[in-house]
Amino acid sequence: MAAKTLFAIRGLTRVFGQGDSAVHALRGIDLDLYHGEVVVLLGPSGSGKSTLLNILGGLDRPTGGSVHYDGQSLADLDERGLTHFRRDHVGFIFQFYNLIPSLTARENIELVTDLAATPLPVDEALAMVGLSHRGEHFPAQLSGGEQQRVAIARALAKRPRMLFCDEPTGALDLRTGVMTLEALMQANVAFQSTLLIVTHNADIARLGDRIIQFADGQIREIIANQSRAKPNELRW
Ligand code: ADP
Ligand code: MG
Repeated sequence: MAAKTLFAIRGLTRVFGQGDSAVHALRGIDLDLYHGEVVVLLGPSGSGKSTLLNILGGLDRPTGGSVHYDGQSLADLDERGLTHFRRDHVGFIFQFYNLIPSLTARENIELVTDLAATPLPVDEALAMVGLSHRGEHFPAQLSGGEQQRVAIARALAKRPRMLFCDEPTGALDLRTGVMTLEALMQANVAFQSTLLIVTHNADIARLGDRIIQFADGQIREIIANQSRAKPNELRW
């Protein structure tokens, strides 16, 4: 079966600053991301992983090269077009959950579903991450793992075609990390969302259909994984 390309990335570069103090965070990335796959970006701290994610998700602009999403060049979108792309097509999960503390779990999710084109009912989103009983809780009343699952429910509720996960379990212990990763994989199963998971943990990388070894702003190797692991099979 020929896989459909969702993101086509060509010669992508990102330089921060100028002159002697310039940081070359991305040094020419060529990569296709296919509809429905789980891709893990594995690399050390400072290697440019978040920079790549932020550009693909329309949070940052590259200094060179191109990104096409479903045939559309992101560079050709104005701020309004980019906002639309972020709102309707992609979801983000960050290491530190980024929930609004003054809103309940339900209200945090509603912020997104009120704007989304074809949202999932909030109760369904909460059920998908195993938090049906936590909708009326505020972030401070939830554990770290529960907060991260609310953040995942918030992203899932858009039925995103693409989910960017930047060190999603970086702040969690083993048990809550497994539950978090299971919640993420739900998006892939339920909506065929493409997942790009950033980690520096080689064991988490086993969840991917492809593992991209990243170092110093460049792709070093792409490994095809014939049998992706389930979250509860991870050792870490
Ligand atoms: P990773 O996510 O792999 O840890 P990053 O993409 O965050 O790496 O960073 C890659 C490099 O770019 C690092 O050297 C970092 O210091 C630099 N960098 C990232 N964002 C900025 C920024 N906004 N301004 C200046 N330098 C940055
Ligand atoms: Mg990072």
